[in-house]
Amino acid sequence: MSNMTLPTIQTTARRLARSALELLFPVHCVGCGREGQVICASCVTGLKVLERPFCDTCARPNVNGQCHDCLEHALASDDVLSP
Ligand SMILES: [Zn+2]
Ligand SMILES: [Zn+2]
Repeated sequence: MSNMTLPTIQTTARRLARSALELLFPVHCVGCGREGQVICASCVTGLKVLERPFCDTCARPNVNGQCHDCLEHALASDDVLSP
């Protein structure tokens, strides 16, 4: 007789099935192809840096970091400040 309880057996079986699946179908990072995770920590960080849906200056929705208005304003003030 085994002293293993039914939940323990189920957990072990699930764990074995999971590792078998991981062996058969290894998970790779979608960003860099590193094995182990669907997306690795460094790629998550990279995505967060790339994702800037708002203007840096006026916080209006903009995908390019700074909206056209603020970019023009910055260029204009640069012209004024620079000799
Ligand atoms: Zn990655
Ligand atoms: Zn702006």
